[in-house]
Formats: sequence, C-alpha cells, structure tokens
Amino acid sequence: MSLRGVAKEYGTGEAKVVALGGVDLEIPYGELVLLVGPSGCGKTTLISVVAGLLDPTRGEAEVLGHNLTRMGGTRKVNFRGANIGFVFQQYNLLPTMTAVENACVPLLIAGWPRKKALVKAAGLLEAVGLGGRANSLPSQLSGGQQQRVAIARALVHEPRLLVCDEPTAALDAQSGRTVMGLIRQVAVQPDRAVIVVTHDSRVYDFGDRIVEMSDGKIDRIKTGRTEAGWNAAGH
Ligand code: ADP
Ligand code: MG
Repeated sequence: MSLRGVAKEYGTGEAKVVALGGVDLEIPYGELVLLVGPSGCGKTTLISVVAGLLDPTRGEAEVLGHNLTRMGGTRKVNFRGANIGFVFQQYNLLPTMTAVENACVPLLIAGWPRKKALVKAAGLLEAVGLGGRANSLPSQLSGGQQQRVAIARALVHEPRLLVCDEPTAALDAQSGRTVMGLIRQVAVQPDRAVIVVTHDSRVYDFGDRIVEMSDGKIDRIKTGRTEAGWNAAGH
C-alpha cells in the first residue's frame, strides 16, 4: 500500500492550514507501523486519508490494491466497511448498547444475522479479556475496558487494514501494553497492515517500523527493531 504525493489543506485564503505537504509513504503488509510526531503535525490527517475517511487535496492513496482516492462514494463506504477497522482515541462506543452489541456492529453492517454476529463478537470480547463484561454498558466500564471493546469492534470483521489513532492515550501503562499486545497478536499477519498513531513512547517496542513526522512531512523512518527493543537496536 502507498501514499503518493498526498497533500491536504484545510480552509482557504488566510485561514488555510497545510496539514500534509506532499507525503510519499510505503505501508508494508505484516508489520505494525507506528506513526509518531508532535501534536498538530498531521498524523490524524494522514491516517484518515489512508483509511478513506478523508480525501486529500492532491495525491493518491493505494490501499489493499485499490486506488481509494478515485473510488466513488458508495463503493468507498462499502470498501471501508468490509476491509478497514478503526480505533479512535475517544472509543466512540454507542452509549445505549452493551459491550457485545457495540462489538458486533461491523458484522451487522456487513449483513450477518444478529445471533451469529453476537456469538462472534462475544469471542472477540473474550480475546480482549472482557468475556465477563459482555452485557455491561460503556458507562459501567473503565476507560481501559471501553478501549478494549473498541478494539474488539475494530477487529471483529477481520479487516485487512487496521488504523488506530492514539489507542493508548487514555490508558494506564498496564492497559496500554495489553491493548498493544492484542493489536499485534490479532492484526499483524502477512496479508494485513496495521498503522498506530502514538504519542506514547512506552508503546514503541510494539512497532516494527517507526515513521516520524513533523509539520506535515515525514522526516525519518526507523526499521530494524531487535528482540530487545528499539534502544538496543542503536536508535
Ligand atoms: P495530529 O493528529 O498530528 O495532531 P492533525 O492531522 O489532527 O495532527 O492536524 C494537522 C493540522 O491540521 C493541524 O494544524 C490542525 O490544527 C489542522 N486541522 C486538522 N483538522 C482540521 C480541520 N477539520 N479544519 C481545519 N484545520 C484542521
Ligand atoms: Mg491526532
């Protein structure tokens, strides 16, 4: 997958903000890519383009073998629903639905029968360590538990591309490690791609590649993490 010359500007005239200034990036399969950089440097904008949630002002995104930028509205919505999972910083759970009902939403959208979807979603909740909380409402769960429900929801339809925006920002260290371990375990497979935006240096060792951004550009890409982590690799 790749981005070619992707630029994004918000607003016009005096109010114009250049969020991405022509970014080229290869996104490999089978790796967890971390996207890091200071607040406002364009990380959320970049992954929104990769995930087909935002059209770039210029340039093109080739995602899972499709030119997402040229794909029309309805087709893009369907493509996203079938192939892309999202985890947002603020969870975005539906407050009136239980954990398991939240987690099965992508399957219902894909047309699964409700009963079958609930069974599959319950399995995912089990995998994220929330088997006992399937019938809890989001308001009855801690931040870390809600984020794990959001991850179960993002993975339930086995998306080939998983995009996470600061998934550990609201979590304590232990929950953060659980969440990152889970993302690695479920989503890092030869035919899948995972991008995680993070501010949180504690999660660096979960990444196979670190893409460093500043000011709407990519400054540097680090590869070659050793088993002992990035520091031991001489970075
Ligand atoms: P990051 O995720 O790295 O913090 P963003 O991609 O959210 O950065 O933002 C990049 C730049 O674009 C920032 O200057 C931000 O203020 C601006 N920006 C983001 N979204 C909008 C928007 N909807 N309208 C106007 N400016 C925006
Ligand atoms: Mg952001």
